[in-house]
Amino acid sequence: KKLRVGLLFGGCSGEHEVSLSSARAIAQALSADQNTGKYEILPFYIRKDGRWQAGELAQQVLESRTPLQLESSTPDSPSPIASSEISTANTQQLNRWQSPSQAAEIDVWFPILHGPNGEDGTVQGMLKLMQVPFVGSGVLGSAIGMDKIAMKMAFAHAGIPQVKYIAVNRSQVWSNPCVFPKLCDEIEGTLGYPCFVKPANLGSSVGISKVRSRTELETALDNAASYDRRLIVEAGVVAREVECAVLGNDNPKASVVGEITFESDFYDYETKYTQGEADLLIPAPLPDAIATQIQDLALKAFAAIDAAGLARVDFFYVEATGEILINEINTFPGFTATSMYPQLWAASGISFPELVDQLVQLALERHT
Ligand code: ADP
Ligand code: MG
Ligand code: MG
Repeated sequence: KKLRVGLLFGGCSGEHEVSLSSARAIAQALSADQNTGKYEILPFYIRKDGRWQAGELAQQVLESRTPLQLESSTPDSPSPIASSEISTANTQQLNRWQSPSQAAEIDVWFPILHGPNGEDGTVQGMLKLMQVPFVGSGVLGSAIGMDKIAMKMAFAHAGIPQVKYIAVNRSQVWSNPCVFPKLCDEIEGTLGYPCFVKPANLGSSVGISKVRSRTELETALDNAASYDRRLIVEAGVVAREVECAVLGNDNPKASVVGEITFESDFYDYETKYTQGEADLLIPAPLPDAIATQIQDLALKAFAAIDAAGLARVDFFYVEATGEILINEINTFPGFTATSMYPQLWAASGISFPELVDQLVQLALERHT
């Protein structure tokens, strides 16, 4: 009997479109030759407004036909799923709540969601409550992995080297005119310039600024505060950016190490998602001893936040001093065919279809 895999994709985050690309790649891999007959795929699309769509509508989104095109389709075309609940919104077909009946049939969930409302423990909490196995980290690992302040506290406790940082609350930036200058003084005194100002709970470099002066610092704090209540400011390092993929539950394995190279000032949103702006070097040209240290630290980081299934751990390698500093962990890294995570495993001997197969098996193993 085929295992029914619920693909959960889209989501209420700035990385909605990245999720669609990852979901397409994963859906293909689950039905690749190697996995023939094993899986039945049921797509569930989470729209940006948080509504769920299952069945034909979700399938169409997965097959690149955008939700916009869906809107212009005949409003009274027969619905593939019987559904009694109709929303009050005017676009009838788009707003039909179709998920509950299909969701009950799922054997294992594959939440392919990046960023807040998906990679952060929210969806994981809901799936846990449903008592159905799901791919990836649970509530704790996802939540710690999403919040850069909590993440760094966990790393510090595990003795993993990282840059100096200051945790900031939005209220220090916005509400009190006496507090803000003091905060800026403290940042300048402790971290100096350049430093990086970040919303604590985001991804894809959204809301992140590299700042070199007091004026830039003030603007960057104000900007980051518009994204999140929790902010972090980090001392800037000049370093190579290297990444390691981790796969497994209680005895996880580390992949070969990869490197990202680019011309821009830092690895910002545009560099990440513009074709040709960044290159992946797999494996990274590193001394063996350095690569081994990175792999060890990646496994430590995975355990430090209680990650499960998969994670990509990102580091700064300061070549001049040989220092390896952890930057962050991502509990659901980009997962398109050209993304770092699957490519690191391909270079380590695990093909894309094999990788998604293992992830599903790890979800089942963890649940029992
Ligand atoms: P995200 O979770 O959005 O990917 P990161 O913390 O990884 O955010 O930061 C995005 C990019 O910004 C990094 O890949 C790196 O290029 C740059 N960056 C972030 N923090 C620092 C730092 N402390 N020193 C130097 N570069 C940094
Ligand atoms: Mg991240
Ligand atoms: Mg990053």
